[in-house]
Amino acid sequence: MIDLDGRAALVTGASRGIGRAIALALAEAGAAVAVNYHERADAADEVVAAIIGAGGGAVAAQADVTDPDAAAAMVKTIAGELGGLDILVNNAGIIADDYLMMMKPERWREVIAVSLDGAFHCTKAAVRQMMRGRWGRIVNISSDAGLMGDVMRAHYAAAKAGLLGLTKSTARELAGQGITCNAVAPGIIATDMTADLDEGRADAMRGLIPLGRFGGPDEVAPLVVWLCSDAAAYVTGQVISVDGGLRM
Ligand code: NAP
Repeated sequence: MIDLDGRAALVTGASRGIGRAIALALAEAGAAVAVNYHERADAADEVVAAIIGAGGGAVAAQADVTDPDAAAAMVKTIAGELGGLDILVNNAGIIADDYLMMMKPERWREVIAVSLDGAFHCTKAAVRQMMRGRWGRIVNISSDAGLMGDVMRAHYAAAKAGLLGLTKSTARELAGQGITCNAVAPGIIATDMTADLDEGRADAMRGLIPLGRFGGPDEVAPLVVWLCSDAAAYVTGQVISVDGGLRM
């Protein structure tokens, strides 16, 4: 049993999909959870209500993680509300498919701003809080795309590969402070992000996955919870895929 009782966690992009599942799982393990969202307050409120309904502690936290001031203000507010911040899961991300030759610079920047800049802004703010207790867990939600590349997703793959550099640098720089930092690389997970795939492409993708199916958000969350626990104290700077065998 993983016990995160007394820990305070922030999950970015926790109103939907993988972030939602991670927030619920961290709360189930005993952590008080801040449920960050960008626009979907209704969805974030539903996650908070589910956690509180199950006897846990949670608050909603609106912020656009691409904005450094907003990210810093969010972390400060959460730390005040939850009595500190021990766990950060950088999960917020967007996709916007486009062929490289057609990709506008603004689109490139937009995708990188959420996944990569956002993780940097939140990490920088959260680490200040974690250093006070000389204990911290940071998990960055990367993607197999960051390791393999992906068609129509040069911006996304670059952001997710960049997250791996951020992960390893954070792990090295903060190891002496009792703070670990790891990356989880999902394969194809059934969420809003993958809901628009046409059946032909979805079937072709399933054919590449040894386990023959897409994963669910609930199949990513348990690894993240474990990485956030004391049991994972000797694991840092790692990239672990949850992908049905896609990348092996
Ligand atoms: P999703 O269902 O589309 O949810 C995206 C979440 O990110 C939402 O909570 C959204 O908030 C939030 N968000 C978007 N822009 C934001 C911003 N600027 N500031 C703060 N929050 C923002 O996505 P998902 O499929 O669960 O993906 C979660 C993470 O896993 C992403 O980093 C994604 O790249 C990664 N991943 C997903 C897959 C997959 O197959 N699904 C595979 C590999 C990696 P609102 O609800 O307010 O819009």
